Parts: sequence; structure tokens; C-alpha cells
Amino acid sequence: MRVLMIAPPGAGKGTQSALIAAHFGIPHIATGELLRDHVARRTDLGLAVQEYLDRGELVPDQVVLDMVREALVAAKAAGGGYVLDGIPRNMRQARAAYLVGRELGMTADVALHLDADDAEVTRRLLARAALEHRSDDTAEVIAQRLALYHEVTSPIICWYRDRGILVSVDAMRPAQQVGREILTALEAMRPLLDQGPGQARHPGDLATLGEAFGASG
Ligand code: AMP
Repeated sequence: MRVLMIAPPGAGKGTQSALIAAHFGIPHIATGELLRDHVARRTDLGLAVQEYLDRGELVPDQVVLDMVREALVAAKAAGGGYVLDGIPRNMRQARAAYLVGRELGMTADVALHLDADDAEVTRRLLARAALEHRSDDTAEVIAQRLALYHEVTSPIICWYRDRGILVSVDAMRPAQQVGREILTALEAMRPLLDQGPGQARHPGDLATLGEAFGASG
């Protein structure tokens, strides 16, 4: 199972990615976590990206693309499945991730879109700020991250819809309920995905399934 997540900050991307990874026994590749780990360890990369994270801006594409290529190579050796959480954030990253996936023979099966409105995700992020003290969970930086999401990330949703791999889930509900719906949808797709490499899937199969499970459009 190869899944990539698209969601505004605070929609539950990290929580649901971890659930999917545990359920299918596949690696969870979270670019934000990888970057925060570099910052915490004060590596050269961490020092170079810290300001972007603190301001809620995107780090340069090539930095995350290099990290993700390395993680995908490791995921391939571990069986080929993955949950990509945090990338792509813009159209250039979407195309680049697709090309890396093609090169490694592991393009995404599903683009999972968690749909939640700004007021709800802001409320959740401010609640998280009280517990986790992330440098980017202040009201001002949250607003910046959301603006960026609407401007450069959400337009790529159409691209996945056109490719027939988009599944959209209403993430306004409690995490457990959202998680159950996601696993049901992914389990329903599994028989199609497990077909051998010689049996090419028709993208329409997934599009239809996506619609059955609430994909918009
Ligand atoms: P996240 O944990 O996904 O909310 O990401 C936290 C921060 O890490 C973002 O606000 C960006 O500064 C940076 N980041 C994570 N993923 C990416 C990416 N794919 N491209 C650029 N910056 C990223």
C-alpha cells in the first residue's frame, strides 16, 4: 500500500498517517518530523532550515526531495509500501515525487485528502500548542501555514483527482471515526492494489472506489 497524504496543518495528517502505517506495516515518512529532528540535533541541515520552520514557510524543494528519495529507497528495500506525510506541498514537489516514484517503480496508489476547515484546524493547532510547544504553532504562524496551504498545496488535489487516485475524507470529525473510515476505504482497495505487476490497473477502478468512499468530484 502506497499512500500520500494531503491535508492542511492540524487536520490530523500525522495521527492518521501513523495509523495507516501501523495497520499495513509500512514506513511512515513524515517530512516535517524529519526536518524537526534535524533542527533538534542541530545538524547543518537543521540549522539551515530552522528559520523556515519557525516562520511557517516551505523549505527549499530540493532539501525535502533529497530526504524523500532516500526514505523511498529504504522503503523499497523494506517491501515497497509507504505513507508519505508532508510532501508534496506544491505542484513542483508533486511532479518530482511522481518521477522518483516512477523511477523506483513505486508511485502512489492513493492520494488521501483530509478535508477540514480553517477554523477547526486553527482550534486544534492552538490546543496542540499548549501541549507540544512547537515553534510554528502560534496564531500568526498558523495563519501563514494555512495561507500557504490554500495557495500552493490545495491546487495539487485536482492533479490527483485527474490521475484517478484521490480519496477525500471529511476530517472534521473525531480522529477515531476518521481513522476507521480511512482504513475501511484502503482495505476495500487492497485487492486491486495487490494485483501482480503484469496486470495493469485501470485508474478508473480507483476513481470509482474513491467516489464510493467520499472522494469529491
Ligand atoms: P508539518 O510537520 O508537515 O506541518 O511541517 C512542518 C514544517 O516543515 C512546514 O511548515 C515546513 O516549514 C516544513 N516542511 C515539511 N514538509 C515540507 C515540504 N514537503 N516542503 C517544504 N517544507 C516542508
